[in-house]
Amino acid sequence: MRLVVLGLSLSSAWGNGHAVTFRALLSAFAARGHEILFLERETPWYAAHRDLSDPDYCRLAFYSDLRDLDRYGEAVRGADAVMVGSYVPDGIEVGRWVRRTAKGVVAFYDIDTPVTLARLAQGECDYLAAGQIPDYDVYFSFTGGPTLARLEQELDSPAARALYCSADPATYRPQQAEKRWDLSYLGTYSVDRQPTLERLLLEPARRLPGRRFVVAGPQYPDDIAWPANVERIDHLPPAEHSTFYAASRFTLNVTRADMRAAGHSPSIRLFEAASCGCPIISDTWPGLETLFTPGEEIILAETGDAVVDALSRPAAAVQAMGEAARRRLLSQHTPSHRAQTLERELIAAMRAKTKDRPMKSISDSQTILVAGGAGFLGSHLCDRLLADGHHVVCLDNLQTGDLVNLESAMKQSRFEFVRHDVVEPLPERIVERKFDRIYDLACAASPPQYQQDPEHTMLTCVLGVSHMLKLAEKTGARLLLTSTSEVYGDPEVHPQPETYRGNVNPIGPRACYDEGKRAAESLVFDYDRAGRSDVRVARIFNTYGPRLSAADGRVVSNLITQALADAPITIYGDGEQSRSFCYVDDMISGLIALMEHEGPQPGPINLGNPVELSVSELVRLILDLTGSGSEIEHGPLPIDDPRRRRPDIGKAEAVLGWRPTTALEDGLRRTIDWFDADRRPLRGEQPALIA
Ligand code: NAD
Ligand code: UDP
Repeated sequence: MRLVVLGLSLSSAWGNGHAVTFRALLSAFAARGHEILFLERETPWYAAHRDLSDPDYCRLAFYSDLRDLDRYGEAVRGADAVMVGSYVPDGIEVGRWVRRTAKGVVAFYDIDTPVTLARLAQGECDYLAAGQIPDYDVYFSFTGGPTLARLEQELDSPAARALYCSADPATYRPQQAEKRWDLSYLGTYSVDRQPTLERLLLEPARRLPGRRFVVAGPQYPDDIAWPANVERIDHLPPAEHSTFYAASRFTLNVTRADMRAAGHSPSIRLFEAASCGCPIISDTWPGLETLFTPGEEIILAETGDAVVDALSRPAAAVQAMGEAARRRLLSQHTPSHRAQTLERELIAAMRAKTKDRPMKSISDSQTILVAGGAGFLGSHLCDRLLADGHHVVCLDNLQTGDLVNLESAMKQSRFEFVRHDVVEPLPERIVERKFDRIYDLACAASPPQYQQDPEHTMLTCVLGVSHMLKLAEKTGARLLLTSTSEVYGDPEVHPQPETYRGNVNPIGPRACYDEGKRAAESLVFDYDRAGRSDVRVARIFNTYGPRLSAADGRVVSNLITQALADAPITIYGDGEQSRSFCYVDDMISGLIALMEHEGPQPGPINLGNPVELSVSELVRLILDLTGSGSEIEHGPLPIDDPRRRRPDIGKAEAVLGWRPTTALEDGLRRTIDWFDADRRPLRGEQPALIA
């Protein structure tokens, strides 16, 4: 997805915890394949203290003031989600601008929830107005627990979700070091933490003069009477944190008063220490037990006595507790876990938005061009579009398609057929027409068929879509390209999400199709980037159903015709290769849902049925359903035949609210019945030929 973040700072971690949080979260989010633009307000303080200007996981851009933000209007409009952070200068106005501009999900990320709530109650919050909370689709909060219910129930947030900080286990690692201190504390001075620090560190230090303590952090007043066995370090750079924790037998976690009162507000310190495997003694607050198990992964202490008691524990038990805390961190509290939470919640918000969107009225009749409309999928699409009241022009060279498929379409006055090869420039009579939608399905889809004339297949993909895009640009139509799961080649990632870039052999016999479709996709997205046309790309996974050509050589048509004729069943290879089969009606619904998706251009979307089975399993099912006595015959596996294929359809579900509903057995029964019935020859009215 495309995410735009407007946050306090990414470029400078000086004097703010936001940058550290954003860096960890966004780099992990980008690693999941998402595209991020971070917009930061240019301020003299952060400009003078930049320690990151060119992150490799996202685009970082600066704006000078609210008016300057308009430069990023296009990016915000085109984003799937936009997130505004707490403490953004003029945050209220920024939030209003985002709300007016964005078309996708809009979220707020509060890295200071207790402060925000206190300020809102006093009417003094300058980065968020209470009235804006219902307008943010999701309110991500550094504080979880009952505060989330309060945000939803009292402040009308549609969805308040915890998005805690985390620690990167690659940076914060256990290290070998001599233990210099029995108990350490790392934190800037703060008035409200000082009494706890006094009780849980300074008092035990006075009682245990033989033990060594350390407090690292700036801004402690000069008049603090540090006991002699408490070492002071004024500034400890982040690069030295791991060694600091490694040299500590225990470290102390002290929480800000407002965070403690709200509960469920872990500090970065807590996770960093756990990530280093350093045993932690923590102050107590509600919700801590949901993050680390007291007694096993962390020690809770209310009093100096409890600390003194902890410091006398045997070394082996102490070390085991540090290791347990690290294990917990690795399993639940890394940046990658937070990125997953962010992704999951944004997708849920997108889904909620899609559900609310009113369905397009059937009376909005459109003129629609379907290239490849005489084929298997194209003819079903024409039928559905006609049934929905549209005017359909079908363009096809009948290379693999058949007018028999259009028998019912041709009876309708709102249907026209044009015989034309899309490799050639489009005929005048098409170019002169006004179209609202263009579906580009023109291309043989069965491996034996598309390999028959590979040059023509490649040109069909590339020149075909180029001609369609030019027409779309000229006529202002939205274009949908039917791409394919073949763009993932023989995939090394399973199941295949849209972010996977594939493993395609560019010089093999399948390349004319795989690479042709990849080139077609790139052309489509070039048109999108240049603002030349409104586009959609479906990556279709194996689809089957009535009107599959008996002779096209695809697995479902082959197996059914063989089984019905009691002829040998041809399994290529050992039959262990897998596919996931989608019934044609589901596919057509998905294609139309994608075409009519009104949000920002959503990038390529997988359409298919995620139920995966091996070719041998498919054979068994078809033999059962047909009651056939066919023998099985093994043949050679075609070159570059993908071993496994299954769509990850999370994006289709989130963006389109679509998922297939036809069970494989039901779909196969209908397909078998269709193959079994006598097919009627083409007769009746002739099509309205316009070329
Ligand atoms: P199909 O072969 O039944 O239909 C393709 C249609 O395009 C045919 O009517 C054919 O005559 C026409 N065509 C081919 N080359 C043409 C050209 N140069 N000019 C004009 N018309 C041409 O295939 P299908 O299964 O209906 O597939 C339709 C689209 O969906 C294709 O683009 C294919 O790549 C894509 N797709 C299908 C599947 C699937 O499982 N069915 C899977 C992935 C992608
Ligand atoms: N296949 C098979 N027997 C056949 C036709 C195909 O075993 O008669 C296998 C083929 O090798 C591939 C899978 O079935 O592994 C699906 O093949 P198909 O040609 O339908 O489409 P693909 O997914 O390979 O594009």
